[in-house]
Amino acid sequence: MCQRERRSWATIDLNQLVRNYEIYKRSLKVDTKVMTVIKANAYGHGDSEVAAALQKHGVSMFAVSNVDEAVTLRQAGITGEILILGYTAADMADVLLEHNIIQTIVSEEHAAALAATGIPVRCQFAIDTGMNRIGLDADNVDACERIIRTYQEKLQICGLFTHFCVADTDQEACVRFTGEQVQKFRAVVDSVADLNLSYIHCCNSAAGIFHLNKGVEFKGIDRIVRLGIILYGLKPDYSNTIPEEIKPVLTWETSVSMVKELNVDETVGYGRTYKATEKRKIATLTTGYADGYNRGLSNCGYVLLHGKRAPIVGRICMDQMTVDVTDIPEARMGDRVTLLGRNGNEIISADDMAQLLGTIGYEVVCCISNRVQRFYI
Ligand SMILES: *Cc1c(COP(=O)(O)O)cnc(C)c1O
Repeated sequence: MCQRERRSWATIDLNQLVRNYEIYKRSLKVDTKVMTVIKANAYGHGDSEVAAALQKHGVSMFAVSNVDEAVTLRQAGITGEILILGYTAADMADVLLEHNIIQTIVSEEHAAALAATGIPVRCQFAIDTGMNRIGLDADNVDACERIIRTYQEKLQICGLFTHFCVADTDQEACVRFTGEQVQKFRAVVDSVADLNLSYIHCCNSAAGIFHLNKGVEFKGIDRIVRLGIILYGLKPDYSNTIPEEIKPVLTWETSVSMVKELNVDETVGYGRTYKATEKRKIATLTTGYADGYNRGLSNCGYVLLHGKRAPIVGRICMDQMTVDVTDIPEARMGDRVTLLGRNGNEIISADDMAQLLGTIGYEVVCCISNRVQRFYI
């Protein structure tokens, strides 16, 4: 780390990332392959660095959300397969071909637009089995088959995939719905089995660990798992239990800029939302919502310093925030503060923070802004 920049920084443990990958992979059948999902700057962890570490470890399939992310990976020296999981306008077809990127086809209209370019882009069809976001409607198997066969001749179709919407929930109705999605997907896969498409996949992190080989029958569509959130050591849903040795790989820290006394009836910050009912000690920190620290944590979240919790008081500002350190007498200017990660015996994870915010760990890490320097160990 640059010794002079001590404002707001994240440390990404690439060894732990690879360990998470290994532990997850070991829970699968030996012949199941893992496509690592590193969209959105690897869920905020830094896509080039994360992909390079995985490639070095032998990973050869990556998924991203758009062309820019895919090209970034190629420029970082990633040579494996790269699948774009969402829509790309057909006028980018030349870029897709140039960088050997696989594009998802979201609809028949999208397939037609890509084919009309005359550029033989490599593609996979998204099949919609209940998410109702993108893909050919699996309820109409005949139409799916016709469209896949039509464009098999015009584009280079190399796969089919679907996406689950409740694979992270073990409620009976959700498990049943996942099973129905599997059946619908399989019907489409079977209708074009003679095409011998290389890439047939459906499982996200949650499905791969909670459903695959566990009751729901995945035969024939279980060759690849798309591993996202658990790679980063976070849970698909707060209620999930994941293997204990899988741990968060990102730590986010900041510094104390000053410590001051607060007298009775004095308030802190914009809107004067916190008022001291007794003498308090306040520490100001050098991170704010422009760094991606969610403003929803105003007067409700906490940070860690000197191995203790310090509750956030007042509103989170753009570049600064304030915490109560009355019970941490040793707090002073220059102290290191943990926003996410372990400090002494205390720990705060993105999942914990997400629960306070009523969101998911995915959003917490994805929102850590570019201003936060990333360091890799
Ligand atoms: C993001 C994404 C994934 C990865 O999901 P996780 O829950 O992070 O494992 C897999 N497939 C698709 C289509 C996605 O968009």
